[in-house]
Amino acid sequence: MLEIKENISLKDYTTFHIGGPARYFVVANDLEELQEALASAKKNKLEFFILGGGSNILVSDQGFAGVVIKLNNSYVKIKNNTAEIGAGTALSKAIGETLGAGLLGLEWAAGIPGTVGGAVHNNAGAYGGEMSQSVKEVGVIRSEKIKRLKNKDCCFGYRTSFLKEASSSGKKNLDIIFLVILELKKAAAEAIEQAKATIRENIKKRDSKFNGFSAGSAFKNIELSESKIKEFKNKFSELSDQFVEYKKIPSAWLIDQCDLKGKTIGGAKVSEEHAGIIINTGQASAEDVIMLISFIKQQVRDKFGIQLQEEIEYIGF
Ligand SMILES: Cc1cc2nc3c(=O)[nH]c(=O)nc-3n(C[C@H](O)[C@H](O)[C@H](O)COP(=O)(O)OP(=O)(O)OC[C@H]3O[C@@H](n4cnc5c(N)ncnc54)[C@H](O)[C@@H]3O)c2cc1C
Repeated sequence: MLEIKENISLKDYTTFHIGGPARYFVVANDLEELQEALASAKKNKLEFFILGGGSNILVSDQGFAGVVIKLNNSYVKIKNNTAEIGAGTALSKAIGETLGAGLLGLEWAAGIPGTVGGAVHNNAGAYGGEMSQSVKEVGVIRSEKIKRLKNKDCCFGYRTSFLKEASSSGKKNLDIIFLVILELKKAAAEAIEQAKATIRENIKKRDSKFNGFSAGSAFKNIELSESKIKEFKNKFSELSDQFVEYKKIPSAWLIDQCDLKGKTIGGAKVSEEHAGIIINTGQASAEDVIMLISFIKQQVRDKFGIQLQEEIEYIGF
């Protein structure tokens, strides 16, 4: 029998450690429990929210008035070079098990908190890799069954997918990812050891960058066409040639140029180490974070004429 809890603080379920309570909160360990939770939300005409690792969200101080469903179907099944992974599986577990089976493809994700479902929803990425490169199929819940979508049907883009686009545009009660099929590369033992060494290096770099409670990078980087980025470089010659080559302006660079490292509103602070990250120094409210985000956006707009876009998602606002 599914346990439905009431008024559960969401602070403890997010890496920001910010947010009010969920009116109802359930943990769904398998398909049956997930369907029971969805049926209960539907019957009571309540909105639901699927929670993964809570590492890319800002929950409002008022919390979420519907049902928060923490998806916890954690498993990895490997056959040849494909892996079927439960959406509630921690990315770290997926990386460990696929590497252990001699498969490469997820190394870039080492150190990213959160679940495989959340990583597909966001098309998470780092160090030149991203989820869409390995996704073969995504199993979503449609009419109480699992429907397999092909990679091309997921509309993956820079830190986005059709699922994220739909949730950002305010649509309610969206598709739920239940499982993911990844296509990975068989590798020799030597290549696997090499990947493990790279992972250790990347984790060291991450530990110095992500220092404190956060939801990762607060803003997306800015992608521009070749002509637009050259135009930008003509105006702001400080932009490094590397970014011109990649046709991308890091949001952290724009914020740093506005001298905002260390800028604090209430308990929310722009990281001293990396200007793209907002830290909860301990007692930040969601309102503090929102005010700091608005301030940053205004400063960047005034200096560069560029509108930053949040990478983090707002829940319960
Ligand atoms: C220290 C730190 C470092 C980070 N580094 C990176 C990085 O390098 N690259 C990067 O891309 N991100 C990074 N992030 C952000 C975050 O970890 C990723 O975006 C991650 O993939 C989010 O997964 P999650 O399970 O935590 O999702 P959550 O935050 O729980 O949810 C995010 C969104 O996904 C939806 N969702 C989650 N699971 C499902 C599901 N099964 N079905 C449908 N929708 C679902 C939620 O409803 C929500 O809309 C970082 C975050 C932190 C805190």
